Amino acid sequence: MSASARPDARRNAGPYLYGRESEAIVRVLEGGQYGHTDITEAFERRIADFLGVSDAVAVASGTAALHTALLAAGIGPGREVIVPSMTFCATVQAILAVGATPRFVDIDLATLCVSDQLVMDAVTDKTAAVMPVLFGGRPVDLSAIQEQLDERGIVVIEDAAHAFGSRHDTRRVGANEAVLTCFSFGPIKNLTCGQGGMVIPRTPAEADTIRRTRLLGVVQSQGERANTTSYRVDGFGLRYQLSALNAAIGLVQLDGFRAAEDTRRLLWQTYRDALAPLDGVTLIDVDVDHVVPHLCQVRVSHRAGVFANLRSRDIGVGVHYPPNHTQPAFAAWHRSLPATEQAGGEILSLPFHQHLTDTDIDRVVTSLDQALKSVGGS
Ligand SMILES: *Cc1c(COP(=O)(O)O)cnc(C)c1O
Repeated sequence: MSASARPDARRNAGPYLYGRESEAIVRVLEGGQYGHTDITEAFERRIADFLGVSDAVAVASGTAALHTALLAAGIGPGREVIVPSMTFCATVQAILAVGATPRFVDIDLATLCVSDQLVMDAVTDKTAAVMPVLFGGRPVDLSAIQEQLDERGIVVIEDAAHAFGSRHDTRRVGANEAVLTCFSFGPIKNLTCGQGGMVIPRTPAEADTIRRTRLLGVVQSQGERANTTSYRVDGFGLRYQLSALNAAIGLVQLDGFRAAEDTRRLLWQTYRDALAPLDGVTLIDVDVDHVVPHLCQVRVSHRAGVFANLRSRDIGVGVHYPPNHTQPAFAAWHRSLPATEQAGGEILSLPFHQHLTDTDIDRVVTSLDQALKSVGGS
């Protein structure tokens, strides 16, 4: 047991560079314009084409995407937003940022996602929006309740931070005109800009609101070439634009993305096959024909012991995520969520990124088997 893990199994997640990112950054640096430029706009168009949608609005992060999407949908104080507790805290913070109240909802243990029924059970008179989280890349299909939600004026805003590239039927996530979709292009997402995010709006009006909000509410006639005649502060806004430096990285990443999809699928299938013979592990399944896997997660009992044992073997395990309703910041909105609480105590994310080799995966799974035996048997 003395051989240390290869460096790539030590990392739980990380970016994958396709080789031309550095040149692209240098070109922007030397060009001297780092704000919202035509490079940002080219990235928006390329993402829209890739997804098969008419428009995409780039912002500084996935968190900014969620925040501006809520603003564009008109969600504000006094209203409730249904959100799974099983998500990264950014989803919840975005709700608080618009002055609304999170209403935590439970998940299906098999997918770690919300279901139609769980959402409908959580609807109240105050519900203004529901934010499904496309956990691990899995599309969340609320079409069966879309009409009921429409009748009540409830907006669906997807947190698709994990799900760039995933398909629902034949269409990419983002192509459903009934919902606002938010992507993150942060450092460990399927596609990275370093930092970045994107909103797929439902309407041109939503797109306009987000475009204004991301540039401090200032309406400019031409990118950064504002002058006193074109400068008008037209509404609320923040410094939320996607910089040209980040957009340039994203453009290179998008060129490599079809290879990334295949790699992530193959890695996930390699894990699935290697994990199959193990006792005491439940793989959280993914429909790998449609989903671009973002994580490889299992459930184990004695998670704390297994986690510590694997870390001592230099395996980069993680937990996505400790539930939000038990966090101090969100204690005011705590409610009992049995499946979320069970998942919160059992989930374990195995190293999953595009630098992994089959040998790394073999090593991770062998270590997991040994950890389960030593923890379970002690
Ligand atoms: C990463 C992530 C976010 C936030 O995106 P950032 O780009 O880090 O701001 C939101 N929700 C989920 C589920 C995420 O994984």
